[in-house]
Amino acid sequence: MKKWEENIRKVTPYVPGEQPKRRDVVKLNTNENPYPPSPRVAKALRQISTESMRKYPDPEARMLVEAIAEMETSPRSGSAAERGCLSEDAACGTAAMENLTPEQIFVGVGSDDVLAMIFLTFFNSEKPVLFPDITYSFYDVWADMLRIPYERQPLNEAFEIVGRDYYKENGGVIFPNPNAPTGALLGLDVIEDIIRHNQDVIVVVDEAYIDFGGVSCVGLLEKYDNLIVVKTFSKSRSMAGMRIGYAVAGKELIGYLNDVKYSFNSYTMNQTAILLGTAAARDNEYFEETRRKIIATREKAKLELAKLGFSFQDSQANFLFVTHKSVPAAELFAALKEEGIYVRYFDRPRIDNYLRITIGTDEEMERLYAFLRTYPGIR
Ligand SMILES: *Cc1c(COP(=O)(O)O)cnc(C)c1O
Repeated sequence: MKKWEENIRKVTPYVPGEQPKRRDVVKLNTNENPYPPSPRVAKALRQISTESMRKYPDPEARMLVEAIAEMETSPRSGSAAERGCLSEDAACGTAAMENLTPEQIFVGVGSDDVLAMIFLTFFNSEKPVLFPDITYSFYDVWADMLRIPYERQPLNEAFEIVGRDYYKENGGVIFPNPNAPTGALLGLDVIEDIIRHNQDVIVVVDEAYIDFGGVSCVGLLEKYDNLIVVKTFSKSRSMAGMRIGYAVAGKELIGYLNDVKYSFNSYTMNQTAILLGTAAARDNEYFEETRRKIIATREKAKLELAKLGFSFQDSQANFLFVTHKSVPAAELFAALKEEGIYVRYFDRPRIDNYLRITIGTDEEMERLYAFLRTYPGIR
């Protein structure tokens, strides 16, 4: 070993899902939206000049921040089913925060950037940060890289987060809702219970998939100043390639996040992302239309896959986490890939017999079912 190797920060990096070079792939492996971004994004793109690239972008990304504040404030319309709610509860899916100001929004290069900043800014205790054992596999990577102690809380046998597990002393709490890769949604009552038991630390709810059937917990910001809600344009707004994510919290916490950001890189958001993200945030109608289509395709997928002998939790995300009664997941993963149908397989304890299947278009899902119907041992 060379002497200089002693002082290297050695990390085991996060491994993102594969982005195949082939174009004919049915890509159901990274939870991207199968529909293009809003037509307003295409229009805004045509209007961008190279002159805007000569100058530094607005370090506050004020235009985007204001559009997001407005978007988070406008309540969703339509019937409960149209809002993606399973219950007839009149408030379900309408969740919006009244009087949300731009000072309560922090934007970053995808929510991964926002989450990394959150770990750096708020998780500085000697006590462990708590998150589920089966969850977004980036959390432990950031904690390891930043040398933050953490403790995984096992999901129960049904793969559900157990609120009580988060009552113990800790240095912070983070979990996705719906959880990934299970798709299981926690009710606002359970989330509020976890926050109520953790008022001396920061609680982060990662809502990457909330638009596919859950109710956002942003409304709880009225009551709790230690809550941070993180969202992204990557999934429900079809803009994974543009890298836009954001946090909603009280202005005090957002201020601390901005202090860290400005100590790192003032210009995280490029000019094009600011302009196109703003256009997407302003098109609520298109957003509603595409998320409803994905919800409908997902509900159909639940029926089809159950008929084919798969079981899964009741996902409220844009993916299903499935296991088959007789065909091993690893085998099926390889066979699907051979066929040009990419899904995600995690070779990890407790979930190594599961596949995570992103909800694509109806046509893409039909190709999946057609292959599965003929696969030996499926039925
Ligand atoms: C996809 C995802 C993210 C990050 O998405 P970005 O593209 O970085 O915005 C964050 N959390 C969870 C749980 C995700 O699945």
